[in-house]
Amino acid sequence: MIDAVTDALDGRVGASASSSVRDSPRSGPESVGNSCVRDSPRRKPTSSCDATGARSSQQASIAGCALLLAIGAAHAASARAEQPNRCGTQGVALQVLGSGGPELQDQRASSSYLIWFNGKPTVLVDAGGGSALRFGQSGASVTPLAVILLTHLHVDHTADLPALVKSSFFESRTERLPLYGPAGNDDFPATTQFVKALFGARTGTYRYLAGFVSAAPSGAYRLDAHDLKLDGHEVRRIFDTHGIRVFATSVVHGGVPAVAYRVEIGGARIAFSGDTNGDNGNLDRLARDVDVLLAHNAVLDGATGVERALHMPPSVIGRIARDAGVKKLILSHRMLRTLGHEAETEAAIRKVFAGPVVFADDLDCFPVG
Ligand SMILES: [Zn+2]
Repeated sequence: MIDAVTDALDGRVGASASSSVRDSPRSGPESVGNSCVRDSPRRKPTSSCDATGARSSQQASIAGCALLLAIGAAHAASARAEQPNRCGTQGVALQVLGSGGPELQDQRASSSYLIWFNGKPTVLVDAGGGSALRFGQSGASVTPLAVILLTHLHVDHTADLPALVKSSFFESRTERLPLYGPAGNDDFPATTQFVKALFGARTGTYRYLAGFVSAAPSGAYRLDAHDLKLDGHEVRRIFDTHGIRVFATSVVHGGVPAVAYRVEIGGARIAFSGDTNGDNGNLDRLARDVDVLLAHNAVLDGATGVERALHMPPSVIGRIARDAGVKKLILSHRMLRTLGHEAETEAAIRKVFAGPVVFADDLDCFPVG
């Protein structure tokens, strides 16, 4: 009962706030409103207010501001409709929502990537901290998504999943949303356990959102989690729906269960390394002839110990890109220890890989194919 009340209250307040945000982009009425506040009470109306022809300066100010607000609202509505900065309005595009690692001081959202197809957000890979904000800034919503892929369950790849799910409460999705991630081990839960620990009824951390995982009709869509138990060098097709095919293989990320993915959509092929040290050869096979390999630039050559056990240095990224016949390399998961070392990183890759190499920033949009 308390849960229901909480959810209902949350829904009303959130729906109102959400609607308000949607109707008032920061660049629209808000800035016009500020200009009106500056112009009207303290100083004589400017020529734009005088141009209204109103009888008094006060009336002119009010009328002018109302006009400006109306123009601003119309402009905002127009801007929303046109979405001039939206990634991938035609064909396939890869948008980097989070280009950073776990460190907050890199001033980047943590790992997250979104594939757009003809203007629709279709595949989300990871949801690290800060990426939910970038997801909103990209103009995406959860309803059109075909699938969510988690490379592994470290915080910098999953922390914003609850934020995305909660935000989608204010959307109208009813279709199940598949979510894939690795099977567990002694140190990490399986993906199904992870989702249940977040949203499961009675015991989940966010149990008030249990409607997203329970079979009970709640009006919400169901988040459909799957564990990927991948053998040895297996590259398995795990998803084949609506013209989107996803392949997965296990990769080595220290002792952390981790998966790399290849997404095929609209004739484009995009591979995501996730976090890996590149050791088992599976990423080479997965990324064969892809248009883009999105690889994680978490360490430099010369890294040792835990860093090297978890991540691949540029020389290994370059070798894999060369051996796999990758057409373009995008480097993300940039960390304090690699930021500022781009020339060194690119030089190490250039020794073996001749194709384009790009260092990603948050919200970068890359057309593919
Ligand atoms: Zn990471």
